[in-house]
Amino acid sequence: MHNIIVIGLNHRTCPVEIREKLSIAPDDLSRQSNRLKSAPSVEECVIVSTCNRIETIALVDNAVLGEQSVIDFLSSLSGLETSAFVEHLYVHKGLAAVRHLFEVAAGLDSMILGETQILGQVKEAYMVGLHAGSVGTVLDSLFRRAVTAAKRAHTETELSQHAVSVSYAAVQLAKRIFEQLRDKTVLIIGAGKMSELTAKHMRASGAERVLVTNRTYERAVELAKNFDGQALPLDLLQIGLREADIVISSTGSADYVVTRSQVVEVMKQRRNRPLFLVDIAVPRDLDPAIARLGNVYLYDIDDLEGVVAVNVEERMREADKARLVLGEELVAFEQWFTEQGAVPVIAALRAKGSQVQSSVMQSLVNKLPDLTERERKIIEKHTMSIVNQLLREPVHILKEIVGESDANVQLAIAARLFGLEAEGLRKTSVLTEATASEDAKHSNRGAEKTSESTRSSKNVWGDVRIGQAMGTP
Ligand code: NAP
Repeated sequence: MHNIIVIGLNHRTCPVEIREKLSIAPDDLSRQSNRLKSAPSVEECVIVSTCNRIETIALVDNAVLGEQSVIDFLSSLSGLETSAFVEHLYVHKGLAAVRHLFEVAAGLDSMILGETQILGQVKEAYMVGLHAGSVGTVLDSLFRRAVTAAKRAHTETELSQHAVSVSYAAVQLAKRIFEQLRDKTVLIIGAGKMSELTAKHMRASGAERVLVTNRTYERAVELAKNFDGQALPLDLLQIGLREADIVISSTGSADYVVTRSQVVEVMKQRRNRPLFLVDIAVPRDLDPAIARLGNVYLYDIDDLEGVVAVNVEERMREADKARLVLGEELVAFEQWFTEQGAVPVIAALRAKGSQVQSSVMQSLVNKLPDLTERERKIIEKHTMSIVNQLLREPVHILKEIVGESDANVQLAIAARLFGLEAEGLRKTSVLTEATASEDAKHSNRGAEKTSESTRSSKNVWGDVRIGQAMGTP
């Protein structure tokens, strides 16, 4: 039976040191999507890989085989044994999977509840899958619906009005540590979206001296110009580190951009003047060994959890409203998905109707060779109309019966009645999900690691942690 499954891990279930091993660089996403699509039982797939999560969304024709395929894929992707990450995984099936994706897209599952960057990342993942050929009819419809649902959640509630970004959280952390930022030198490493937000929030928080360094120097110049800062070539990073009080790094580099030995050297030049660093990149930019050096204070993205406490209650209230909006879109998608089970029969029925109509038409034209073009067109139109009127009711009923428990039997009877040969006739598409009792049995062990969004959503949608389902201790 076709079903949709989501298997993933996020900032609540998995620490950054494992997450970064499973992250996929944007330019490798297409290849990895194709690899996953060729795995047993996987018919369609999209992979969302961001700093806080990796989510594999797949249409499978066998849930057990499909799950195993995804787990094997994650293992080969990271080079990790399954046992190293399986306890951090969650799996959602059917409706729970769809709800989860809608929530992710709307920012309801984010570290910072209601943040909007994730929607762009979900759209991007869908586009990559589309171009790679791993997205088919079902995931195409699912992702379009997820984007619509998330946009509605943002526009019909005030969820995103209170939303902030990870960069904002990093700047807030700096503000907590230093009484004021005015007299501090800030070094921003990277010149992408996150760095731009960092520069903006640093400026808004009063930081007067902002240095920007980036692999592509021109982009550093551009960013520095926009925020009245100074650009620095990346090979002069050491100078930036010597000058800075605060370093915030967010590049897409797979390797460390700042190593321990660089900081050891810099700290000598700084005469041990304290250095505060925030790494919001995943994979991390700053070697974690830096944290063990004296007078060096290193924070990674997981340390930002809970930093932004502003408007939490408003955001939680708005999140509840947003869930209602998502629920409406969920019902619409469920109906569409269920109807897909009838598509082969309906298509075969229509093809048969069209075939009967055209053979009648042909015989008529043979018997009445003097028909004018106009007469032929009128007869063609009316014979088509007879077929369409005859099929309207059966098509309607076929769409209804696919939601029923004996849909397979009913579809087979319908096919036999009309003498149809429909491919995939016996494969219904039903969004099955874990029952309430199964959910309770597999209650989420990671729930103690609460966050804004877990507090409001945990166990609502019936998730099952794979580690538990597989009996991992
Ligand atoms: P982005 O807009 O694509 O920018 C990427 C930046 O990284 C660019 O400045 C790029 O330099 C630089 N870069 C890429 N590969 C590099 C390499 N091998 N060595 C040195 N620099 C390299 O990405 P982003 O959205 O700002 O994300 C950057 C980081 O922040 C990522 O690690 C991401 O996981 C993390 N993050 C993102 C979000 C989010 O919502 N987007 C949230 C939290 C954390 P060039 O200009 O030379 O290309």
